[in-house]
Amino acid sequence: MIKIQEKQDCCGCYACENVCPKHSIMLQKDEEGFLYPQINLETCIDCHLCEKICPIINVEPEKKKPQTAHLIQITDDVIRKESTSGGAFTAIAKWILRQGGVVFGATLDINTFEVHHRWVDNEADLSLFRNSKYVQSHIDKCYQEVKEFLKEDRWVCFSGTPCQIEGLYHFLRGAYDKLLLVDVVCYGIPSPGVYKDYMQWKQQQIGGNFQKMLFREKRLSYNYTSFSIFNDKPELNYHQGVEREQFMRSFFSDMNVRPSCYNCKFKKRYRVSDFTIWDCYDVKAFSKNFDEDGTNRVLVHSALGEKILRGIKEWTKEEPYEDIDMFIKDEIAMVKSVVMNPKREAFFADYATMSMGDLMEKWFPLTLTVRIKTFLRMAAFKLGIYNEAKRTVKKLLRKN
Ligand SMILES: Cc1cc2nc3c(=O)[nH]c(=O)nc-3n(C[C@H](O)[C@H](O)[C@H](O)COP(=O)(O)OP(=O)(O)OC[C@H]3O[C@@H](n4cnc5c(N)ncnc54)[C@H](O)[C@@H]3O)c2cc1C
Ligand code: SF4
Ligand code: SF4
Ligand code: SF4
Repeated sequence: MIKIQEKQDCCGCYACENVCPKHSIMLQKDEEGFLYPQINLETCIDCHLCEKICPIINVEPEKKKPQTAHLIQITDDVIRKESTSGGAFTAIAKWILRQGGVVFGATLDINTFEVHHRWVDNEADLSLFRNSKYVQSHIDKCYQEVKEFLKEDRWVCFSGTPCQIEGLYHFLRGAYDKLLLVDVVCYGIPSPGVYKDYMQWKQQQIGGNFQKMLFREKRLSYNYTSFSIFNDKPELNYHQGVEREQFMRSFFSDMNVRPSCYNCKFKKRYRVSDFTIWDCYDVKAFSKNFDEDGTNRVLVHSALGEKILRGIKEWTKEEPYEDIDMFIKDEIAMVKSVVMNPKREAFFADYATMSMGDLMEKWFPLTLTVRIKTFLRMAAFKLGIYNEAKRTVKKLLRKN
């Protein structure tokens, strides 16, 4: 059976829980709020299936294969605004639904503050998947459901982080013509436990009743998104930029990140998925024909991906990009793991003992530097030079 020696040897993909014939595995929260398998030794029959399908024990070797690269925007501007980047995922998912298929993705439950994977079979419900949730999703029994749909000869689109895609790939242990895999470029993933506690604290702090939240709302711009919580009393709505918002700071300071993400086995250019989708902040560096309101960069890894790319032309604006090395060059998160913050252990030791308010005040206070950063960003935004200023700062940082 699965024995996890080091926390970094488990990405929490749920493949073992889904495969166990005796239901002897359940993923449960550890003291950092991340999920790991717990085995019921009384019912386990030692069949080794869980070890055979674990994507970390059986790392998939990177196999070079033909690829194409594309810039994509969905042409429906409302959907694009709701989407994290260019809305490519909705466009791809729509194609699957039009074949009578089902689509799996990550959804946020605003009542429990939990992210779970689930499936939908109609276009209206695709909105549940839009917008990146920067907290690890519970797969629950979705891999089993995927298999059931495939057995019924339905088309299935499954989207998620690269480790979830490889978890499903190993769980299925075989090729299916009607299965489409879509992964994102993944920086790393924060703790579901920290997120839940943080949101409960925010609910007490802000009051009212939370109706909806977006980790990446494009209310100001695609290049300056807000962490937004919408309340039943609109005057209590909460919008904070990434430089100021405390949960996002815990993530981007590389502390509130799952241990497996510091040694990620799934970051690579050639993947088992059909599509890899990610952001394109500096779209003008790739094409003058796209606006700056959100674009996806998309790598197509398979013949099925190419077929669907042709199928979605009707509702997307798309441009191929020939030089793939150049296309992926600045997206370090595609191939390199995030480096652990040396203070991570101390942060989680405090998480175990402190109230959320005290934890955030200690680790991510509203210092003068943070206030100045917000002031400069807002000033650049109001002067209409935000995108240009961001490009210049990036160039300078690259030079140094
Ligand atoms: C955890 C995470 C880290 C990311 N890191 C980077 C990065 O470093 N650089 C970069 O360029 N892009 C990154 N992305 C990808 C980017 O944020 C967009 O998701 C991507 O560009 C797709 O945009 P869209 O407009 O097509 O999708 P949207 O319509 O916004 O759809 C989002 C898609 O992401 C999936 N998703 C959302 N949240 C989760 C989750 N918690 N777990 C699994 N799947 C989820 C949904 O199922 C859906 O398929 C990351 C995404 C996630 C979820
Ligand atoms: S060895 Fe078999 S029975 Fe035991 S936990 Fe793993 S899959 Fe389940
Ligand atoms: S990586 Fe996935 S399959 Fe392996 S032990 Fe962790 S949850 Fe189970
Ligand atoms: S960084 Fe790697 S291990 Fe971490 S969530 Fe992303 S794909 Fe999974």
